[in-house]
Amino acid sequence: MAATATMVRCPLCGATVAPDQWGLVECSCGWGGHGDPLESARGLRRLVMRVDRRLATRTARADLVRLGSGHWQPGRLGLVYMLALLLASTLIYMVIAAVLVGLAAFAFSLIRDHAWIGASVIAFLFVVFSLSLLLDRIRPKGVEAPRARFPRLWAALDDVRARTGAPLPHRVILVPQANAYVFQHRPLRRLFRRELVLALGAGCLPLQSELDVRSLLAHELAHYRHGHTALHRYYARAERALSDFTNMLTEAGETHGVLTRSYRTGGSFSFVVGAGAMLALLFTLPLRLILFIFHLLRLAESRAAEFEADRTAINAYGSQALADNLTALLVADHTLRGTASSLRADMLKHNSRSIYAEMRRHYAALPPTVILHLRQESLREFRSLERSHPTTPDRLRAASIAAVPPPPDVPHTTSTDLLTPAGATGPEDVEAELTALLFAERHSRRR
Ligand SMILES: [Zn+2]
Ligand SMILES: [Zn+2]
Repeated sequence: MAATATMVRCPLCGATVAPDQWGLVECSCGWGGHGDPLESARGLRRLVMRVDRRLATRTARADLVRLGSGHWQPGRLGLVYMLALLLASTLIYMVIAAVLVGLAAFAFSLIRDHAWIGASVIAFLFVVFSLSLLLDRIRPKGVEAPRARFPRLWAALDDVRARTGAPLPHRVILVPQANAYVFQHRPLRRLFRRELVLALGAGCLPLQSELDVRSLLAHELAHYRHGHTALHRYYARAERALSDFTNMLTEAGETHGVLTRSYRTGGSFSFVVGAGAMLALLFTLPLRLILFIFHLLRLAESRAAEFEADRTAINAYGSQALADNLTALLVADHTLRGTASSLRADMLKHNSRSIYAEMRRHYAALPPTVILHLRQESLREFRSLERSHPTTPDRLRAASIAAVPPPPDVPHTTSTDLLTPAGATGPEDVEAELTALLFAERHSRRR
C-alpha cells in the first residue's frame, strides 16, 4: 500500500494537511481524517469527545516519540509503573473475590432464615459469576489444522519461528471470519499444561500475499514470546473480569426489575423497574469507577505490548507487509460483513461452495487503485482513551518509523495454497467447510 499525496483541508479548523506515506491525515487540532465523528458531534458530546481525543492523541504521540527513539519494549515503562499495575490487578481480583464471598454469605444467611427463593437467586448468581471467571470463554468454531494435514501453513509458521524466535502454537484452528488471534489456556485434556492456540481466519487470506500472512502470524506468535506475557495476561484478565462482572451485576439488577414487574400490576410498574436498575447502578458505580481508573492505568502497558508484537513482525517481514496485512484484515472483514449476500449470490451463479473463492474473484476484478482506496477507507479509526490498543493508523505510523525493507527471500505470491491440505489440489474443500460454518453462525445470530 502506497499513497499519492493530495493536500486535504481540515473541516474543523480549515488548516491544510498533507497525507503521510499511507495516505493518513491528521490535523494538529485533533481531526483524524475523513469520517471523523468529531465533524458531526455537537454540544456536550462534542466537548467530551474533544477532551477524550486530546488526551488519547497525547498518549499516542508520546508512544510514537518513544518508538522513534528506538524503545519498543514495554519493560522500558519503568519498574514503579509495573508494580503499580501488578498491585492494582491484584486488588481487582480481591474485590471480585470479596463480592463473591459476600454473595455466598448472603445466600447462607437466607437459607438459615428459610428464605428459599432469595437464597436460590443469590446462589444462582454466585455460581454464574464464579463459573464465568473460571471457564474459558474463547472457543473458536472452525477446522483443526494439524501439521500433517496442512504442511504449507506449517512451513509458513516454521519460517516465522526461525525469523522471530517465537514459539509455535500447539494447535491451529482455521476460523471462518477475517481475523487472527492467539490465546492460551490449560485444558483438562492436557492435564492443565499450557496450550498455545492460534486461530487464523480464512477470510483474511484472499487479500493477502504469502509475505503478508507471515507478517500477520509473526505478530500473533510474538504475543507468546515476550517475557511479559504472563503478567500481561494477568493485567488484561483483571480488566476483563471486572468488566464482565460489572455487566453481569447490571444485567442481574435489570432482570430483577423485570421479574418484580411481572408480579405486579398497575401504576407501580415504572417505579419497580427503575428501582431495580437504580440499585444495580448504585451497586456497580464504584466498580465502574475502579474499572475506568484501571483501564487508564493499563493503557500504556497494553499499547506497548501491541507495538512490541508489531515490531517483531516488522523486523522479520518489513514495514510494508505489516501495513498490508493490517489493512487487508480490515477490508476483508468489511467485505464479509457488508457484501455477504452478494457474495452468496455469486456462489450460486458460479456453482461454488466457497465464499472465499468469490472474495478472490471479487478482489481480482477490482483495479489496484480501487483496492488501495478500500485499504485507505478501512483506516477510519479514531483515537479514544476507551481503546486499550493503538489505532491501526498509529500502528501504521509506527511501521513507517521502523522503516524496515521486506526480506528478499519471501515470495509475494498469493496465500491461497496455505489452506490446501496435503494431497489435495486446492483449498476448496476446507473453504467449503468454513463457508458452511460462517453461514451457520450468521443464521444462529439472526434468530
Ligand atoms: Zn484542524
Ligand atoms: Zn496483537
